[in-house]
Amino acid sequence: MSAPNPNCKVCGGTGAVPEKYEPPHPPHFRRCECVLRLDIIANAEKGLVGLSSAPVIPSSPLMDKENKNLWVTAGEEFLAHLRHVAIRKPITWAFRVNSDAEMVTAWLATVAVSGQEIFDADAYTVSTRYMTLPDMVVPPDLLVVRMGVKVARNAAANEVLAEALQLRMHEGKPTWIWDEPHNPLGPGHLFWSDSLGRILLKWERVQRLESPLKGQPQRPTLPRETKEPRRLTLRRNPLPAELLAPDVTPPETPPETPPDPVAVTPTSAEAPQGRANRKSLRSI
Ligand SMILES: [Zn+2]
Repeated sequence: MSAPNPNCKVCGGTGAVPEKYEPPHPPHFRRCECVLRLDIIANAEKGLVGLSSAPVIPSSPLMDKENKNLWVTAGEEFLAHLRHVAIRKPITWAFRVNSDAEMVTAWLATVAVSGQEIFDADAYTVSTRYMTLPDMVVPPDLLVVRMGVKVARNAAANEVLAEALQLRMHEGKPTWIWDEPHNPLGPGHLFWSDSLGRILLKWERVQRLESPLKGQPQRPTLPRETKEPRRLTLRRNPLPAELLAPDVTPPETPPETPPDPVAVTPTSAEAPQGRANRKSLRSI
């Protein structure tokens, strides 16, 4: 549990808020919002350092797919979508982003322990953090494999990825593969193999994610009425003047979206602590 805000007026700095007491049940407490917000951020950071500062987006097609195997081809915008999902999950939800290079490193650790010679330019990165591939890929509730980090060739790379996915499927746990649009998984890719292709054949594929910048104000476009008269001159029987008025329909209001639990605006009574929280969040 994160440290509560000592100035919080809801919990008085204890981090716990008493719930309605109903004898003979013992008194119970809920986690105060000042702690919950930090815990959500901490859980996102545990999955991938820096994820909590990814751009905020109103919605994501990846939502509610955390229990499925997914193959996502996207650029850096993927992080905003992953953040969107991660901060809406319970703080007990364990997800982790590991790179393809880390998987090979974990596999090489086993080779190093057995005393065999390692032929890999990244051999110096072998550590005792993960002694075997299952140590790394099995524990998380959701494993996100980030492709494109490993550059140095390793003859076993494709087998390592296929084995990692098989291990996850054997455990009945979901995996998301995140590859890059300019270097998608396929024949010729460092990690591609026929067995990997057979595995991914059954996976849901997402090939396009909205960029976080999509919702931002865009450059002004030419007004529509400048084009209307030219088009109308081609008609044999022009329309009445009242129908030639420029299109002045108001812009559609954007649909309501669920709130971002981390970006909740504090009430006026809690504004000082909210600011304090955000300051402390930035320091994570
Ligand atoms: Zn509190």
